[in-house]
Amino acid sequence: MSRVLSAPLQVAFPYTRSLGPVLGAFMTGLREGRVLGARLSDGRVVVPPVEFDPATHEAIDAASLVEVGTEGTVQTWSWVSEPVAGQPLDRPFAFALVTLDGADAPLLHAVAADGPEAMSTGMRVRVVWAESPEGSITDIAHFVPADSATPTDSRASAGGEPVTGIVVPVELDYTYEASPEESAFFRGLAEGKVLGQRCPKCGKVYVPPRSACPVDGVATTDEVELADTGTVTTFCVVNVPFLGQKIQPPYVSAYVLLDGADIAFLHLIQGIPADQVRMGMRVRAVWKPRDEWGTTIENIQHFEPTGEPDADYESYRAHL
Ligand SMILES: [Zn+2]
Repeated sequence: MSRVLSAPLQVAFPYTRSLGPVLGAFMTGLREGRVLGARLSDGRVVVPPVEFDPATHEAIDAASLVEVGTEGTVQTWSWVSEPVAGQPLDRPFAFALVTLDGADAPLLHAVAADGPEAMSTGMRVRVVWAESPEGSITDIAHFVPADSATPTDSRASAGGEPVTGIVVPVELDYTYEASPEESAFFRGLAEGKVLGQRCPKCGKVYVPPRSACPVDGVATTDEVELADTGTVTTFCVVNVPFLGQKIQPPYVSAYVLLDGADIAFLHLIQGIPADQVRMGMRVRAVWKPRDEWGTTIENIQHFEPTGEPDADYESYRAHL
């Protein structure tokens, strides 16, 4: 058995961004198959358009954007031999800075080419439009070498309201590796036990264990089995829906100070209306059916009131 546990984790959410007049006009143009740039006070045209002139700091007028060509010249490039999820192409491609005809500054985008030997600085490329434009930089699906047989435009111009915002998926995949002490905690949960560790110097019990006492800076070596009952110290009522939410709001996330522990940990409170949860409320863990247990805190579905009288504030005030 490996000394430590590890698990894949994914953090993901859709990031909604309002665009403002200049970038809104740029995205609306892309949806119509047109690439727009801003003309600066020094006469240069930049794509994508900037919102403020870098020299005068004047706001750029969205109505003054100029259309540039859909062909251009590669200024520099980098070959991506192993694309990852979310990149413009799912086969090897080049990221390139492309200066479109009529522009004076390059745009970063993808070039579909047969291999790095097919790429060169100074090569001519042209836009391949996405099949379903939506007012996004991905309406330019990618670029191809200008002499490629790939059709440039396979879509009709799309009408509709001006584009005012975009939704960008943000995603982070990683592997979490638990410390040896945390691994013991998770293995304990798989047997229905809540394991903490005690500091040999100050005697405080930490759960989940942190490997060392943050007060004394010494390793915590003494394992302690805790009760699965405790006291709500602080809590919040979650009213805001979000992606991946498993419980219908409103519901309560609370810090629960397990009996015998010196630090509270976060879990859900159920079995009581959200507006009746209070500091000092006595709660117990509600475990999933035993055959569903794994090395996860989710073995405890939530905490629910025990019905005991509330704990005296003095009993937990040092643990807030
Ligand atoms: Zn200590």
